[in-house]
Amino acid sequence: MALVNEHFLKLADNYLFADVAKRVNAFRATHPGADVISLGIGDVTRPLCPAVIEAMHRATDELAHAETFRGYGPEQGYDFLREAILKNDFLPRGVHLDISEIFINDGAKSDTGNIQELIRWDNSIGVTDPIYPVYIDSNVMIGRAGTVNEGRWSNVIYMPCTSENNFVPKIPERRVDVIYLCYPNNPTGMTLTKDELRRWVNYALKNDALIFFDAAYEAYIQDDSIPHSIYEIRGARKCAIEFHSFSKKAGFTGVRCGYTVVPQGLTAATLTGERIPLNNLWLRRQSTKFNGTSYISQRAAEAVYTPEGKAQTRETIDYYMQNARTMLQRLRSLGFTVYGGEHAPYLWLKTPEGSLSWQFFEEMLYGAHVVCTPGVGFGPAGEGYVRLTAFGSHEQTDEALNRLERWARG
Ligand SMILES: *Cc1c(COP(=O)(O)O)cnc(C)c1O
Repeated sequence: MALVNEHFLKLADNYLFADVAKRVNAFRATHPGADVISLGIGDVTRPLCPAVIEAMHRATDELAHAETFRGYGPEQGYDFLREAILKNDFLPRGVHLDISEIFINDGAKSDTGNIQELIRWDNSIGVTDPIYPVYIDSNVMIGRAGTVNEGRWSNVIYMPCTSENNFVPKIPERRVDVIYLCYPNNPTGMTLTKDELRRWVNYALKNDALIFFDAAYEAYIQDDSIPHSIYEIRGARKCAIEFHSFSKKAGFTGVRCGYTVVPQGLTAATLTGERIPLNNLWLRRQSTKFNGTSYISQRAAEAVYTPEGKAQTRETIDYYMQNARTMLQRLRSLGFTVYGGEHAPYLWLKTPEGSLSWQFFEEMLYGAHVVCTPGVGFGPAGEGYVRLTAFGSHEQTDEALNRLERWARG
């Protein structure tokens, strides 16, 4: 008898976006003709920039001819892209990485989910709460998260990030082996300063812990005193793996490309205390289970680093960040308490009068015909908040704000 991995069954009641869709459909059924605007989407909406499109056309043409055709590429990615990454994402910030430390992937979701294969099943994991669900769910699937009780997993240490601590996670009292951090943060849109991040690096170094750092939104940082990479902190290459993505940086959610940094000096221990370099392990894992990101996607990603590509992607990010600024300003002028949105395309709105996330979601849907994402869907500490995104068009965002204004003033 083939037995199923029953850890998957524990995930069953975890369908945030399906739940949102179901409630929006219920609203539509009773309000035919009502036009609903979503500020809930976590996907980009602007087209790929011309530099990227041209690179993809060129790469496609290469594949069309026998002399320039490419089949399987290196599992870790092509050197042209890895070099562009070193030169543009790290060197200007004083971070010197070796090309062997860069692993090109098909998006950060895969690797943030897969990375946990490198660590033993009985490590404890610490997560900020609220959180991008992939970090916990990928640990649940292999049994590392333990059992669930009222939305909390027994082997997960939650570090609440709320307005009470200004969304800065506190170092837990209980020992944590592996810590997931994501800054700028999805869903709160908040960031950490260098000093705040340094405390985590120092904790990891002192306690022989690992940090998995998700930098998917670093391109949205507006002020260079905020770290774009954890490797800007001294010692981080001894304790951290970092994930990047072209999805939010350059609109690659449908193209698929990102990269993971596994420094050469990074090790984890065996039970007998032997130190094992994780770079070798990850290379072994990738060469076994991954056959590389498509050539076209990697050429597209390379084009993000050309002078035109940089200017054009910057323009698109500015477009979204203009939405974020308008949203922050207008929502605050309506009396809402709103966080984030300054270095990230997400705003984290505190529900008024302590109403619950889902209750406020329904009030906004029925009252303003605007969709948000209930904060509690990202973890227990998200209760009492909703997430709004700045990924819409200017027109839709303005219209949503007009509706929210009529509704709030109504
Ligand atoms: C969108 C997002 C990613 C990127 O996912 P891709 O697989 O690269 O599209 C990674 N981490 C977080 C927190 C995200 O919100």
